[in-house]
Amino acid sequence: MKDLRTLSLSELQDYFLNLDEKPFRAKQVYNWLWSKNLHSIDEMTNLSKDLRDKISKDFEIKPISVDQLQRSSDGTIKNGVKLHDGLLVESVLIPTLTRTTACVSSQVGCSLNCEFCATARLKRMRNLDVAEIVDQVALIDQQSRMYFDRPLTNIVFMGMGEPMMNYKNVVESIKKITESEGLGMSPRRITVSTSGIPKMIKMLADENIKVKLALSLHSAIEKKRNEIMPFSDKFPLTDIMDSLKYWYEKTGNIVTFEYCVWKNINDGDEDIKALIKFCKQIPSKVNLIQYNPIGDGKYDQCNKAAEDNYVRQLEKNGITVMIRRSRGGDIDAACGQLANKAAE
Ligand code: SAH
Repeated sequence: MKDLRTLSLSELQDYFLNLDEKPFRAKQVYNWLWSKNLHSIDEMTNLSKDLRDKISKDFEIKPISVDQLQRSSDGTIKNGVKLHDGLLVESVLIPTLTRTTACVSSQVGCSLNCEFCATARLKRMRNLDVAEIVDQVALIDQQSRMYFDRPLTNIVFMGMGEPMMNYKNVVESIKKITESEGLGMSPRRITVSTSGIPKMIKMLADENIKVKLALSLHSAIEKKRNEIMPFSDKFPLTDIMDSLKYWYEKTGNIVTFEYCVWKNINDGDEDIKALIKFCKQIPSKVNLIQYNPIGDGKYDQCNKAAEDNYVRQLEKNGITVMIRRSRGGDIDAACGQLANKAAE
């Protein structure tokens, strides 16, 4: 049966028109679905019982459910989320003193092949639909209220999958999350993280939705980056930079570069030099992400001196740099560790 949430507002209007109902019914239902995140047609209390029964004959609302919930000693919560067809994705709640961030998945598995990422080892099974993305956000908002007594404040598309490879649904989900008839959150609190697909970065710039953009860079030396992230040999760094310049011109938003420093891989001076040169081409900042090992021994977090060296040299060149310490490592909820381990 078709999911009620695959209908747009105007399709809902057509549907009610066909039932000889007033068009405002569409808005009422839309509000239940996208603002209140209701999963039961029967609980749409401003509709008559008769009308609810009619809708239930034509549509269902496919729920997601928490298959497994793990809590880290640092407060991070990892949800193994079961989709209607039994497939699993992971959605993570990351608390700080003042914020709660939801790290959401955009695909089941991933089709890219970043060597250092656990999700890359899972086959891409399918894209998540719009409702499945929004449901993860609503779930983590509920958990934030329940465990931390405050609403969700930020969303990052840094869970499983490459958001740009599920472009249409990701953009539509952002609309549902931000529009006043939906969850009404500010787009400035949403970050889309991509491994760098130039055409799609330009397309997102043209959407005129004011989200933030993060690029997983890891090396500004082309040859090295292609070894670390093999799919990227199709996307030269000059093309990526062009798309980022376009992004900045269109949105006025600076780009964040995500960057892990690995021992004997990209911890040398020539790596830092290349990064500085890359960053200087565009208003940007660098997040140095602490590496979370995925158990193959090839990639290792660099030592403290190498990290300090990066920070010192970037700062000397006027580039803002933040160190992002890992969260949720004890439950494999950290970046790149999402691989449904618990389900194996
Ligand atoms: N596909 C998107 C979003 C998911 S990955 C992207 O590539 O940006 C989210 C971030 O985690 C990316 O910056 C990615 O490079 C980083 N990451 C992946 N595996 C990691 C690991 N094992 N340790 C730390 N960061 C990792």
